[in-house]
Amino acid sequence: MKQLIKKIIPPAYHKQLKYAVLRKIYFGRKHYCNVCNSNISKWLPLGYDLPVIREKQIVGAGLREAMCPVCMSSDRIRLLYHFLQNKTTIFSNPNKLLHIAPEPSLEHLFINHKNIDYLTADLNPDEVMMQMDITRISFPENTFDAIMCNHVLEHIPDDQLAMSELFRVLEPGGWAILQVPFSKILDKTFENPEVKTPEERERVFGQTDHVRIYGNDYVDRLEKAGFTVNRYQWTEDPCILDSEKKLNLNPDEPVFFCTK
Ligand SMILES: [Zn+2]
Repeated sequence: MKQLIKKIIPPAYHKQLKYAVLRKIYFGRKHYCNVCNSNISKWLPLGYDLPVIREKQIVGAGLREAMCPVCMSSDRIRLLYHFLQNKTTIFSNPNKLLHIAPEPSLEHLFINHKNIDYLTADLNPDEVMMQMDITRISFPENTFDAIMCNHVLEHIPDDQLAMSELFRVLEPGGWAILQVPFSKILDKTFENPEVKTPEERERVFGQTDHVRIYGNDYVDRLEKAGFTVNRYQWTEDPCILDSEKKLNLNPDEPVFFCTK
């Protein structure tokens, strides 16, 4: 049946059809997803249930019911979209945007936008416009108005060099959003170069390819690279609307909004 529908309906409409079906199945008034504009009855599970994530209280990593059943966006994506719409001019003014390791649901919002001159990049060249090592960015300084680079720095051994490179290619007056998972209870970032295998990294850092757990000094590291950091806490935002309270955002997750 699924195959037959796929054959009859042109590929351009497959996603719309899938969303329409999922909106029907999961329809409800209790929750709302701003990314796909759906009223839904529940969220689906997301994240990892590992002892280190629970013990270190790592924000943005643990198992929780936070995934949209229609567009599969996470609580982090909904937070970022809320922030981009309300606190930046990314959609209203022309911007040259560099998006590292692009999240598909955000990429979809940027890629055909008339105001966004968009470049996606990753160390792995599959599914991005350009292969890029962010510790050696092949662009001159002051190239981009905005940079998005989320849940990437915790994978990079020399994250301080990566932060400096992101700062270098950003226009003065430009901004970068640099989200990372971080521990609520660690004052100092925890690293251990002896921890090398995927199994050890998962046990010690909470994911097979992470090389550290950031602590509350994450902002200091960004500032050391030159950024001015505003830690946006949506729970303290008086402009938050009732409809936005239905987004199921993580109260512990700020937006690390970094300017040059
Ligand atoms: Zn959604």
